[in-house]
Amino acid sequence: MGKQKVNIYKISKSSKQVERIDEGLKLLGLDGMGTSFDKLAQLMIKDNTTPYDFLESLLEKELLGKEDGRISRWIKQAKFPAIKTLESFDFSFQPTIDKRQIYELSSCRFIDKAENVVFFGPPGVGKTHLAIALGMEAIYKGYEVRFLELDKLIDAFERVSDDAQRQRWFLSSLVRPKLLIIDEMDLYETTAETSGFLFKLLKGRYEKGSMILTSNRTFEAWDKIFGSKSKASVIVDRSIHYSTIINIDGDSYRLKDKLKKQIGF
Ligand code: ADP
Ligand code: MG
Repeated sequence: MGKQKVNIYKISKSSKQVERIDEGLKLLGLDGMGTSFDKLAQLMIKDNTTPYDFLESLLEKELLGKEDGRISRWIKQAKFPAIKTLESFDFSFQPTIDKRQIYELSSCRFIDKAENVVFFGPPGVGKTHLAIALGMEAIYKGYEVRFLELDKLIDAFERVSDDAQRQRWFLSSLVRPKLLIIDEMDLYETTAETSGFLFKLLKGRYEKGSMILTSNRTFEAWDKIFGSKSKASVIVDRSIHYSTIINIDGDSYRLKDKLKKQIGF
């Protein structure tokens, strides 16, 4: 008995033409076309448009759907702790931030040039918000992004630190994205192994990809994170060399309502 050939792409003939077309398009993974072809075909009949217009409109729907899919997939992969946008940032609350400079960064030219952005400032002034919002803009423009708080990065490294192969994978997963955001580069006493890994990471990304770093410390405090002073200063020098530094000096947005009450709003 020979094997029966099964054609998984066979469309059922019993259904109506519209259903058959819908089924066929979905089998081909053209879901955007599947949901819009009937409406567009009706419009085409009504408006007397050409088959070329019809096909072009259908393609547009498919491409838009695919682009939406990519964006939501990449946002998920980036692992942002929350979704924040530039539109939802109140620049009038934080006058030390130059809105034009932030919008210039949102063009993502700094990513093309493999440059970095560093946000410094006390807690609650919007460093994480702006880092995520710029990360979202990068995804819209087609750059892959990965977001990590420094303590999570260190934890994840420590989980793979005794396995050289997994360590390499972890390193390459952080070197690969065009934009790496490391949030909360604050004070940590790291082991020599961990600071060695961080050193490799920054070296690996140097001139190849961009980073957005946030910290409520100054560059000097990063010595502790990177272990030895000499190694740290090499990294810090390199980071500064290709960086836009944004110092935010203002009130915490988290305490906004408290402040308002205090001054009698
Ligand atoms: P930081 O990282 O500097 O500690 P965050 O970015 O986490 O501060 O901000 C704390 C909270 O306040 C977040 O929910 C953030 O979205 C919000 N926030 C901060 N600054 C602003 C602002 N200027 N406009 C709107 N929301 C803000
Ligand atoms: Mg923060």
